Amino acid sequence: MLDQKKKTIEMCADREREQYIKNAYGIVNIFRDCRDRGYKLIRYPIGEENVLGFAQLRDGDKIIFSNSSSRLSREIFTVAHELGHHVLHLSEDKSEIIDDNFDGTSDEEEEANHFAISFLAPKDLVRKYVEYEMPNSQSAWAALDIAKMMIAFNLSFEACLNRLQNLSLLDSVNRHRLTLEKSANSVSNYVRILDDSCNINKASEVIAIPDEFLKWVLYNYENRVIPQETLEKSLNFLKLKPSDVGIDTTKKIAEDLNLDDLLGRLDD
Ligand SMILES: [Zn+2]
Repeated sequence: MLDQKKKTIEMCADREREQYIKNAYGIVNIFRDCRDRGYKLIRYPIGEENVLGFAQLRDGDKIIFSNSSSRLSREIFTVAHELGHHVLHLSEDKSEIIDDNFDGTSDEEEEANHFAISFLAPKDLVRKYVEYEMPNSQSAWAALDIAKMMIAFNLSFEACLNRLQNLSLLDSVNRHRLTLEKSANSVSNYVRILDDSCNINKASEVIAIPDEFLKWVLYNYENRVIPQETLEKSLNFLKLKPSDVGIDTTKKIAEDLNLDDLLGRLDD
């Protein structure tokens, strides 16, 4: 990514961040503030193997879906990444981006990742954190120090190391040493030592659904974004069956159906 592009994204992330409640370093509650900023945020535990999340524009609604089966630090990153798609990429011409994972190398994926990390852990604050809160020399850093940083910025262990290394605050030798130390003692133990009530390293499995949920779930089922099983699970949460909302799930949509067939079927 070009430096100029990076700067523009950092400015956008800063501007968005200004409107969120922060403590000394991190965003206090990205979920609540997203909703307060008018995003329709849906959190649903659809299983670890399923999509991480997606961003969608529909009827003027800015929708963010996040899979709450991921560990919380990961889910927070997902919401920040989807926010990035809303701020940087979605428009009338492109109304949806689905994220199976964040390993994609497309420009859009790299940009959304850069937005997310700049939003959650802006570089000036990371530098300040290292200066004020970490031991003087990186060779003296322990995995416990990284676990503290996880809590300060709501990041995963890996994301903390990435951020520190990208900002040239951590070299690869020390990164390797910290990774080994972390594997020897699980991160959750560190996090537990630091804060009993902090569950950043676990999946929240939270179900949080705005009023428009039903409309949303039907739209996505019809557009094959979510599988039938998820539709049934989601409706079950509302004590409904697919037939209650006029969907006949015995008419399975074949995998190899092309768009024309699908459009034909929807017109029936
Ligand atoms: Zn993405």
